[in-house]
Amino acid sequence: MESPTRKEILHNFQTGVIDAEECFCMIVSLDGYDSTRQHFLKNIDFLRLTNPKKYNELFTVFANYFEKPPSGAFLDPIGCSVENGYLTSDFGYELEVELASALSLQDQNESLNSKASYVSVVQEPVSKQRNTSSNSERNQPENVNNSFSKNVEEDNGSVTSSVKSKKRKNKGSTNRPVVYWFRRDLRLYDNPALFEAASMNVPVILVFLWSESEEDPEGVVAAGGATKLWLHHALNHLDKSISDRYNNRIIYRKTQSCQREILSLIEETGAKALLINDVYEPFLKQRDDKICSELQRKGIECKRFHSYLLHEPGSVSAESVGMRGVGSVTHFMECCRQSDARPIGHPLDYPPTLPKPDQFPSSSSLHDLELAKMPRRKDGSIIDWAAPIVRQWDFGEEGAWKALELFLSEGVRKYEKESCRADHLNTCRISPYLHFGQISPRAVLEEARHMKSPKFLRKLAWRDLSYWLLTLWPDLPSQPTRVHYRDQAWSRDPGHLKAWQRGRTGFPLVDAAMRQLWLEGWINNYLRHVVASFLISYLRLHWVEGYRWFQDTLLDADVAINAMMWQNGGMSGLDQWNFVMHPVDAALTCDPDGAYVRKWCPEIAALPNDFIHQPWKCPPSILRRCGIKLGETYPNRVISDLEGAREQSLTDVVNVRKKHPEFVDRRTGNDLVPLPDGLCVPVITRKEFKYKLHHPEAKDNPHTAVLRGYRSRKRDEAIAFANERDFMASAMNESVKLTERRLKATQYEAL
Ligand SMILES: Cc1cc2nc3c(=O)[nH]c(=O)nc-3n(C[C@H](O)[C@H](O)[C@H](O)COP(=O)(O)OP(=O)(O)OC[C@H]3O[C@@H](n4cnc5c(N)ncnc54)[C@H](O)[C@@H]3O)c2cc1C
Repeated sequence: MESPTRKEILHNFQTGVIDAEECFCMIVSLDGYDSTRQHFLKNIDFLRLTNPKKYNELFTVFANYFEKPPSGAFLDPIGCSVENGYLTSDFGYELEVELASALSLQDQNESLNSKASYVSVVQEPVSKQRNTSSNSERNQPENVNNSFSKNVEEDNGSVTSSVKSKKRKNKGSTNRPVVYWFRRDLRLYDNPALFEAASMNVPVILVFLWSESEEDPEGVVAAGGATKLWLHHALNHLDKSISDRYNNRIIYRKTQSCQREILSLIEETGAKALLINDVYEPFLKQRDDKICSELQRKGIECKRFHSYLLHEPGSVSAESVGMRGVGSVTHFMECCRQSDARPIGHPLDYPPTLPKPDQFPSSSSLHDLELAKMPRRKDGSIIDWAAPIVRQWDFGEEGAWKALELFLSEGVRKYEKESCRADHLNTCRISPYLHFGQISPRAVLEEARHMKSPKFLRKLAWRDLSYWLLTLWPDLPSQPTRVHYRDQAWSRDPGHLKAWQRGRTGFPLVDAAMRQLWLEGWINNYLRHVVASFLISYLRLHWVEGYRWFQDTLLDADVAINAMMWQNGGMSGLDQWNFVMHPVDAALTCDPDGAYVRKWCPEIAALPNDFIHQPWKCPPSILRRCGIKLGETYPNRVISDLEGAREQSLTDVVNVRKKHPEFVDRRTGNDLVPLPDGLCVPVITRKEFKYKLHHPEAKDNPHTAVLRGYRSRKRDEAIAFANERDFMASAMNESVKLTERRLKATQYEAL
């Protein structure tokens, strides 16, 4: 099909087939960025007289796009598809872009510009300085967050007499120690609170507290088995580094109440201050706020620092940006850009010294915390599920740097277009380290910003976004943000859930990914999308089940990120995924030769390539030759009618939208979401849902979200090559596809 001419695009706009932003996007695709900037207004001038309203609509889009040069770049010609005034496609769309390998060079440059607005750091790569420990001005901690009390007053709290007497010993001493509380900042490099503790020139008491009830409130699964295992090993490494480097050590305590324990430690040691790096889960932040105000009441200084994210959630406001596109990373990046947030700053060196106290307070052993305790069988033998994970990972701070360095020297080159590959490691694999603060996001940013991978840098924005959302919606892990989706019907088949969890669904890619998750505690982003789509859109099981399983089995399980992703996949998040991954087509894209499936599903490894992703299609004679008996040596598919299951999932969503017309915007058909302040805003809504609402009986949905992927690597590579060489080709390709879909929709409606 010929791509539409400018005249045809404008005609479609005038006749209402496409709206102003779609029209603009297509023209940018056709004419290119510079030419549109120069000639667009001249080209639409004729509308000024014939249709001033339409002219104004186009003019507004044009002005918005070009008036804010760097951030406007997010309306990139390929990723942009605008619906009823709301961006339907932002960088959440990058998954599709990833599949299509359609990021053009110009696109990348524009994205880089937009990233530069999000990131305000210009400096040498940090690896060059990481081993130095100078006190240069540049590396002083600049982000003291909240120093409650500068003047240390005498403690007037109630304490036991023995503690009081110890404290009396320290009273008046100029050398009173400080307590440094390790939490999600298990590192020595670029650790602002630790650096500050070191610079106070007094003994530093390093503490780690474990309170299961506080860390893991009911229903959140914040401390799953895998993350506790990681925590155990990470602490072990950290303690060793502290001992080697500073001749100091960590005091461990298991407690019911961190507040009680901190107060008691401070009394016991006569410490004059507590230093912490903030954490942002609302339930932990509330606890910390309480502890700090209690210390303040007692005249103890509480120094809080920010380092877990690039931007503190509270510092990012949508005030000057508005709520259009809220939940998308583009909207969030724009909010960051326009908010009065503290600069990200530069990584700090290792603390030069961390003097140990004259006398250490009592401490449990790390093992007493029981973070890595394995279950036992009835006969008393241990079920060591952790063994394969422990073999796989380097749990220390240095492990984070090795992973980052490996990625930046190799994987990053393939990240833009091939991060989906299951059979090659093309991503960074630093998520557990980032989760536990073994590497800071700004250190990652500093290292990676010189690489030409805007997509990778954007991931750090996604990470910040998730905490922003969790701060606004503290019940993100369990309650649909699109509130009416609470009434959605879901399947409750426990057999299906178990098959999914154990990697026994009969769909090799899904099974391979779920087995890798269980045995390694990690799978890449693409595979997380595949297994999430399968659970939600084919098995029709509630997304909360997926969230909970991931929380228990992922080493990087992160309440904010995981909840945001499962909400979006489960249709009820603000940034509803605009795609569904098909378990076979996705496999052809991410594992074209079946190497990944063969590794994790060895029982079907002998199958020829043509059948490795769909053994049910394999002729019985070949199955026999390969020694495979479906239903015995490898499971039969848990569902065979994928299309039927998908159709039912669509109907479930449509029913909920029908039931709650008060949450559907009558003009645009988008879902309405109540914000925490009560205001209802329209949010991006999948076109297939809108179409289905109005055409419940239609057999075909022109807006189907199922990604078919690419049938062969050859075609994939050819497209990637063409796209790299020819930006216009890929952009036009997109607009043709868009027009095709639109024409199909209008033809359908005309019938
Ligand atoms: C259903 C689902 C659940 C997920 N649950 C988690 C989770 O519990 N914890 C977690 O860290 N990531 C989660 N992700 C996001 C992403 O899959 C992982 O961060 C990524 O696979 C980690 O591998 P990597 O370090 O190689 O990532 P890279 O692609 O190399 O990215 C670098 C870092 O950016 C951050 N990041 C990447 N993607 C995202 C994202 N979409 N949102 C927020 N931050 C991101 C991570 O910290 C990651 O380590 C989830 C994704 C999906 C689809």
